[in-house]
Amino acid sequence: MEFQQRLLMRKIRKTEDHKIGLYKLKKKKEQDSKTEQLLKEGAQVPDKIDVKRKTEVDDAPQPKKRKLNEEETSDNEHIPFDSLNISDHTKKAIAEMGFTHMTEIQSKTVPILLTGKHLVGEAKTGSGKTLAFLIRAVELMYELSFKPRNGTGVIILSPTRELAMQIFGVLKALMKYHSQTQALIIGGANKKLEAEKLFNGVNILVATPGRLLYHMENTKNFNFENVICLIVDEMDKILNIGFMKEMNQIVSLLPKSRQTILFSATTTQQTEALKNLLVKEAIYVSTNVVGIAENIRQRFMICPSEDRLVKLFTFLKQKRKMKIMVFFSSCASVIFHHALFNFLDLEVMCIHGDLKQDKRTRIFFQFCRAEKGILFGTDIVSRGLDFPAVDWIIQYDPPNDIKDYIHRIGRTARGEGSSGNALMMIREEELSFGNVLKKALNDITIFELRLDRILPDIRTTVETLVGRNFKLKSMAKEAFRGYIRSYGSQSSLKSIFDINKLDRKLVARSFGLRFIPDMDGAAAHRTVPNRRERRQKEREDAEYSNKSKENGRRPQHNSEQNGTENLNRPNRKERRRQQFGYRD
Ligand code: ADP
Ligand code: MG
Repeated sequence: MEFQQRLLMRKIRKTEDHKIGLYKLKKKKEQDSKTEQLLKEGAQVPDKIDVKRKTEVDDAPQPKKRKLNEEETSDNEHIPFDSLNISDHTKKAIAEMGFTHMTEIQSKTVPILLTGKHLVGEAKTGSGKTLAFLIRAVELMYELSFKPRNGTGVIILSPTRELAMQIFGVLKALMKYHSQTQALIIGGANKKLEAEKLFNGVNILVATPGRLLYHMENTKNFNFENVICLIVDEMDKILNIGFMKEMNQIVSLLPKSRQTILFSATTTQQTEALKNLLVKEAIYVSTNVVGIAENIRQRFMICPSEDRLVKLFTFLKQKRKMKIMVFFSSCASVIFHHALFNFLDLEVMCIHGDLKQDKRTRIFFQFCRAEKGILFGTDIVSRGLDFPAVDWIIQYDPPNDIKDYIHRIGRTARGEGSSGNALMMIREEELSFGNVLKKALNDITIFELRLDRILPDIRTTVETLVGRNFKLKSMAKEAFRGYIRSYGSQSSLKSIFDINKLDRKLVARSFGLRFIPDMDGAAAHRTVPNRRERRQKEREDAEYSNKSKENGRRPQHNSEQNGTENLNRPNRKERRRQQFGYRD
């Protein structure tokens, strides 16, 4: 195994140990303060308030730990893992993870899964779906005594690389006492190393669809003829990010007689399409209607476009000792706000699809282990990820649909009994989103959060910074374009997030810009070409000089006379002359 791979495995193991440690600590604390909390709960239940009128001062009472009601504590839903008909190896590993009793979705699905039936499971975010399907995967391989030479028996598909890494982490912990093999196959990783592992025989494979298909089509000796169980996590997201074509191809290559297991917190008509493709008849288990953990306190902060940045900065500055995730709608916006906030001395991390995979992985683990910190991200981190103990989820840019809203806020209050806070920054004109949410989410209560003070001088500081710093200014322009584009591409919520009602001048101000950038893209506006454009020009020039040579024209550069191909490239002086039209 290459050093980088070993490092990744070590990180995954460390993160799982850390999570287990946190979970045990939480349980202990909960037990200690149980009586005290029950007393407090009785006294602090907030009144239900209407979306438009409800107000809450900043630093309102923190959400309380949820009290298990009678139904939840009934035997039916809290069955101990010990009562399951599974191997001692698995039981021992689960006990080491610190879990004694199953969550509701686990107790409702694991017994069915163990019988080998097809299943579609739907349960709110953070309810323990991962362990439910992994128990089946591990037990199946153990029962059949799969050996590396038997190849792959179970494939687990995830829409994003980070989620795949996380699932793999739980799988490793669960397989601690088993001898079967497992591997992680994701985009951005080293294909050659992955191929080597597949050659050696991987019994349980955790993968993203694109990379799995690549290996199915190109890697010799990847034995997937014995796949008897296909698991798809976050199945609706798989479709959303356009993996349907890959899924079609994967399914056509896999053996037909296999168990199929699909899980998600939200399902749609599209999910029906995937379900139809993968499995004709399945048992449908749903433990919730809305997909959101009840103990997330949801809030709106009403702010006009021009105040958004200032309010976000003020809020984050106040809460900087907490663990916070902020969602943006485009990579460009994440890049700009990350650079800007760090410039303003507020340390933030960022994760988005334009980062190289090794950086994405590093940030992912860093935020997993962090006890406090701020992570700016796009929707690549909205699905399934289990960052421990996140205090606040902030939606700075609107979600694409209700499902995205649910998944974004589902990054907090994970695991039974935990609680969290969600905040959506919204303009007055968009407030009807609250009603849509209420309707979709069973009449939930949404509070309004007001900041008691904001930092007014920040606006001028940002405008000056952006105005003077060329790089920051181009980032701001790109971010503005990204925001407008994604705002304009809203599908189901078009009438609420209406691009025609946006005042672009005010939006531009929220990016520190004093004018509205045009939407044609960065290159048209830049006066000095960036590195990519310079390279492109160099390539074009080199091509041109090659052609000139072929046409028998006089070589353009002295170096070409040497006859070596490499030396066709103009030297640095020459390049600058071509690009900027000056002579030294
Ligand atoms: P989901 O996939 O439903 O969103 P996860 O599988 O990521 O949720 O689990 C959410 C959290 O719940 C994780 O931190 C996990 O360790 C914890 N968890 C899973 N099963 C149990 C259990 N039986 N008891 C307590 N906590 C659990
Ligand atoms: Mg999940």
